[in-house]
Amino acid sequence: MPDDAAALASAPTKIDQTGPRELSITWADGVTQAIDARSLRLACACAHCVDEWSGEPRLDPDTVPDDVHPLRIEPVGRYALHITWSDTHDSGIYPFRHLRTLANTTPPKR
Ligand SMILES: [Zn+2]
Repeated sequence: MPDDAAALASAPTKIDQTGPRELSITWADGVTQAIDARSLRLACACAHCVDEWSGEPRLDPDTVPDDVHPLRIEPVGRYALHITWSDTHDSGIYPFRHLRTLANTTPPKR
């Protein structure tokens, strides 16, 4: 297990849906980041979305609606968030570290 203090310092303290497609994450160190909801959905790394063995993406972005958004966000221990999505996808686990690198990415152009 990673050291608790470090884990907590890099944990989100608040997640808000700030727009129809935008989430805002506030981190324990005071940084606030915006995340495009659909980009977050597309970045899901669960076994349904990414091949566990090859790492190849299995998710077809065309099957993800433009207005996809989280229905429920729950903490998983002290290291990740479990997000239930409006497109019925509910197996996504997002480690904090992954979230932090995803934040502030620009939404893909369609
Ligand atoms: Zn997934």
